[in-house]
Amino acid sequence: MSKCQDCLQNEVFVHFGEEKLCLNCYNGRMAKRFGVVATSYPEGVAIRDGLGEVHHFQLRKRLDPIGIFMEAEELKSAGHDFKVQGDLYCDQGELLLQLIAKAERGMGERYVERGTFPNGQLYDSIKNQRLAGRVECNPTDEGVPLLVVDGKSYTWEEIGKMLMACEGFQVKLEIIDPYKEVEWKTETK
Ligand SMILES: [Zn+2]
Repeated sequence: MSKCQDCLQNEVFVHFGEEKLCLNCYNGRMAKRFGVVATSYPEGVAIRDGLGEVHHFQLRKRLDPIGIFMEAEELKSAGHDFKVQGDLYCDQGELLLQLIAKAERGMGERYVERGTFPNGQLYDSIKNQRLAGRVECNPTDEGVPLLVVDGKSYTWEEIGKMLMACEGFQVKLEIIDPYKEVEWKTETK
């Protein structure tokens, strides 16, 4: 990883034209340009999912000409990742709360359930006849992406196996912007 060309300390996070800057220095440039300062925020948070398991997230805030972006990225590979966007002059404390609330909602429901066959073999199934996830690049196969569900990555082969129990049923696949919310029409009991 290369170092930021301004502070020569932090890792490069943004390519700003020809320049390679860390998040702090990039935000500093934006602050000068727009007169908006990135207010302080926690470096990380720990959030419990719907099953009580704790997930650790790194938080980031990025100032941008079109708004303020905040992201909570789970500190593990192919984990949960939540993003929110606010207006450049928004209440940044409120934006942080929105991000945490989105992460809590996003982890409130588990989509995949692990079961055991009588012979002891493990299998995964789709719990409530619905599934949401994030498309991620697959480091071992450039031709097919992975799907991250419940903060865990699955191959399409694995997702396909989960669908074996749903033969004959219809499936709806909808692509959703990462800054939007995954919403379901009906809640599960
Ligand atoms: Zn820097």
